[in-house]
Amino acid sequence: MIPILPAVTGQETAGAARANDVLHLMRPGPLQLTALPPLSLYVHLPWCLRKCPYCDFNSHEWRADAAGALPEQRYLDALVADLDAALPLIWGRTVHTIFIGGGTPSLFSPEAVDRLVGDLRARLKLAPDCEITLEANPGTFERDRFRAYRAAGVTRLSVGVQSFNDDHLKSLGRVHDRAQAIAAVEEAASAFDTFNLDLMYALPGQTLAQLDADLKQALALAPPHLSVYHLTIEPNTYFAKFPPQVPEEDDAYAMLDHLTEHMAAAGLARYEVSAYARDGHRCAHNTNYWQFGDYLGIGAGAHSKLSFAHRIVRQVRLRDPGRYMDGALAGGAVAQSAEVALADLPFEFMLNALRLTDGFPLAQFGERTGLAMTAIQRGLEEAERKGLLARDLRHVWPTPRGLDFLSDLQTMFLPDA
Ligand code: SF4
Repeated sequence: MIPILPAVTGQETAGAARANDVLHLMRPGPLQLTALPPLSLYVHLPWCLRKCPYCDFNSHEWRADAAGALPEQRYLDALVADLDAALPLIWGRTVHTIFIGGGTPSLFSPEAVDRLVGDLRARLKLAPDCEITLEANPGTFERDRFRAYRAAGVTRLSVGVQSFNDDHLKSLGRVHDRAQAIAAVEEAASAFDTFNLDLMYALPGQTLAQLDADLKQALALAPPHLSVYHLTIEPNTYFAKFPPQVPEEDDAYAMLDHLTEHMAAAGLARYEVSAYARDGHRCAHNTNYWQFGDYLGIGAGAHSKLSFAHRIVRQVRLRDPGRYMDGALAGGAVAQSAEVALADLPFEFMLNALRLTDGFPLAQFGERTGLAMTAIQRGLEEAERKGLLARDLRHVWPTPRGLDFLSDLQTMFLPDA
């Protein structure tokens, strides 16, 4: 899971060259944070077997036949160099969750993941119950591979199934088929105490009956966590150039209602706009993003959000894997580093927190942004008037209508809204 990100457009204070200059980041500044939020680590492994036509993530096709074996060891060396250079920024802080995302991290061998987890453990103070998630795709699945990830220290798997319908999998350009998807989820269930299954809806030509068949198959595998994503046509993708025929907006809403209703009946409660879980199986890593927690992102194109006593900083690593490896090994993996402007903090907080069905405690807004409640007062009143949001003395949460019109609700907190 990639965090919900605004672009890095704040005041360029540290700049890439001073990205890891901790004294510069600790100097007096406009904010006064009383405590730092929980810290997570995101590790980006950028390669996939094939680029999916809808994908706008930083993922790069790796054709083993043409390009040879994946440069696993060099990439791991680069990650370690990147982390070592960033350590002063998170000195003394406990890491509560780790997410190894991509790309397709399960292209990396269990031995490589074992080395990666060992390298992270050697350098970071991990919480005793640290959740360590790895994203896996059924097309890279071999028997016992998932078990070997578990032995390497991964505690949670996120399986990118997307659909169980072979025609839809083909139209999405996925490298796996229905049988491989089912085998991969069964293996995940037998190797892990907790795992996630990703499903997409509003697929090209999809009917409600076909979506229902996907859902029934997913529920038959008893996932403790399900994430559902509306297929969206993103700029700079193959689908943006050659748009497929997708269901109308009203049909897509009906699909989401159908998913939510049937998942609730199966014990999977919606806790975020796209995420459903049984009790005790929420994703701690993503929850930290949504609660405006901190994260250090290492790897090609990875994003970070880090709080210091007097400022909040966003960073982005070099995007191209080759340039990233060269840069990280030479001590310069960061491409952009910018301080979040005070005026942008309310929107950044609300962009994330309003995705959660429980919303947020009012006190958390002050803790995480260093701002007074007056900074969001006008937006809260307007959203409440429009029935998009509800609140009591301690909490704010989106109404069901607010979740349906989430981007309208979020934009009420833009600086000039
Ligand atoms: S497998 Fe995932 S990351 Fe890779 S191209 Fe497809 S959607 Fe993108």
